[in-house]
Amino acid sequence: MEYLISMTKTHDLKFNNCKFAKKVMSDTINMLIDATADPILKGIAEKVKHNTRITDEECLQLFEKGELSFVGTLANIIRERLHGDVTYFNRNFHIEPTNVCVFSCKFCSYSMLYAHKEEGWELSIDQMVDIVKSYDNKPITEVHIVGGVHPKMNMAYFIELIQKIRAHRPDLHIKAFTAVELDYMFRKAKLSAEEGLQQLKAAGLQSLPGGGAEIFHPAIREIIAGDKVSGEGWLKIHETAHKLGMHSNATMLYGHVEKFEHRVDHMSKLRALQDKTKGFNTFIPLKFRNANNDMSYLEESTITEDMRLYAIARIYLDNFPHLKAYWPMLGRQNAQLTLSFGVNDIDGTIDDSTKIYSMAGSEEQTPTMSTEDLVNLIKQSKRKPIERDTLYNVITDYSEVTVFN
Ligand code: SF4
Repeated sequence: MEYLISMTKTHDLKFNNCKFAKKVMSDTINMLIDATADPILKGIAEKVKHNTRITDEECLQLFEKGELSFVGTLANIIRERLHGDVTYFNRNFHIEPTNVCVFSCKFCSYSMLYAHKEEGWELSIDQMVDIVKSYDNKPITEVHIVGGVHPKMNMAYFIELIQKIRAHRPDLHIKAFTAVELDYMFRKAKLSAEEGLQQLKAAGLQSLPGGGAEIFHPAIREIIAGDKVSGEGWLKIHETAHKLGMHSNATMLYGHVEKFEHRVDHMSKLRALQDKTKGFNTFIPLKFRNANNDMSYLEESTITEDMRLYAIARIYLDNFPHLKAYWPMLGRQNAQLTLSFGVNDIDGTIDDSTKIYSMAGSEEQTPTMSTEDLVNLIKQSKRKPIERDTLYNVITDYSEVTVFN
């Protein structure tokens, strides 16, 4: 715990004296190295000190042996090297076209099988455009569109949706469709990933969200999500999007039946693809929540394990610029805590427009935060609140702002 105290002092000092803060950071890592008896952990701390990539085996060792204070200190040093105190958020809302889904992932609390579709929801294009119109004159920068995989919502349907949103509000960044939805859409339309993405991009799609990644390892994927796109398929779609000049995010669903080695395998595949394309913006760990699904018999991960995971991800994924805590899934207070464990992005205002995690038992049953709420949450952690757009261009520095629109 003393490391954590040093860590807190480091970012407090940074407000006043950058050089002095750097010295404190360097002293902190040296103290950590001196105090670490385990040779592998000591070697990892040395690598972080010298900004050197850790191996998959070292990442596994961090999961097996790294105490929260150890990994947290290293992750915070990396976070502050990359971003200082800057903590990003955006102003966004979600559209979930349907929760009817042809798949039956065991962890999913949200979907309704096609056979019971009358118990779910299906939004028409006009209804979704009306949702967009409800944000007219509001300073929202992004719409995030994901949902179930509905057999009747095909390429033509979504191309029309995107074109209508683009026509109504050209300034809104459209980030839409998980690789799971895309894979199904493209197969039905008999299109390659490249052809399908080109058509959607031409219609106005700009980025892909990171959902549907779950755990890539086939043995675990088979158990939790055996009937949807494989890990390789997910990666191929993101690689193709990057090749076409689109950015995307990546997620990992953790805390269910996977072992540490499967987390390492998952992040290793993401790191390798990022080396190749540099197209990922942010990594978003997603905690398995156990309400209302076929895996409700499993206990959820502890907050300590959650924070360790964020920290280890920050240490391992050296080529991912950003690490995000998705507050509707984690709860706002836990999301705030992640800002001391490597996280530099806390997602957006959301405006109660997603049901995915509230139906899975998240603390956030009506997820919405005003800009002021988000700014205060970040400031309470002694970090610097910056509103960004989807691609991390700075919109507003809220450090000194006290009046909100
Ligand atoms: S996680 Fe996605 S693909 Fe799987 S059942 Fe739920 S909505 Fe369908």
